[in-house]
Amino acid sequence: MGCLGEDGGEARLMSSERERALVVLSGGQDSTTCLYWAIDRFGRESVDTLTFDYGQRHRIELDCAAKVAEIAGVSNARLPIDTFGRLGGDALTDPDVGVLPGADADTGLPNTFVPGRNLIFLTFAAAWAWQRGISHLVTGVAQTDYSGYPDCREASIAALQRALRLGMESGVEIHTPLMHLSKKETVELARDLGALPAMAETHTCYNGERPPCGVCPACELRARGFAEAGIADPLDASS
Ligand code: ZN
Repeated sequence: MGCLGEDGGEARLMSSERERALVVLSGGQDSTTCLYWAIDRFGRESVDTLTFDYGQRHRIELDCAAKVAEIAGVSNARLPIDTFGRLGGDALTDPDVGVLPGADADTGLPNTFVPGRNLIFLTFAAAWAWQRGISHLVTGVAQTDYSGYPDCREASIAALQRALRLGMESGVEIHTPLMHLSKKETVELARDLGALPAMAETHTCYNGERPPCGVCPACELRARGFAEAGIADPLDASS
């Protein structure tokens, strides 16, 4: 699990020792920050990104991911998984379900939770990486502000890493540089890594609006992070 040293980044690897990393890029704020973390850690030429087209209602995410990758100067592959949309029942893939505030009384989870999404994403990412000799996966999950999503917790990711290592006979390592950071700290990290220009092209709003709606839980969380860090959100200036 990745964590930053006192110099703001883990010791840079010598080019001869560099290994490749695959960043799961959603087009959002967190995965964009992770992309710049990976570039800092592994080197731009050793980083690829993968974006899942999982039937999300907000197709704008896919374009945002492509733009962010372009700005960062890395590749962006898109992998279709249309199964989630057929499961239905969550606000991110089912057009009949609106985003509700707070947690569902029965499950204790927000209705934007897509069950198993991160587990499936990381499993496909690991398979993609395995085929290409890539041993590092980077994902923007965080349990600090994890919105109640159980598959963002460190224990979930650690268990998945173990399963992937066993199931793929590999030494795959899942890096979660944001795991213990608050949204404020994530914004500060993005600034320190030079990710703010790309942040103007990211998408966060659960309602799929641009300019962002400003009132959905995702917009509120993002706005609070930038406000607490005392940094203007580049998205506000660009939209
Ligand atoms: Zn919104």
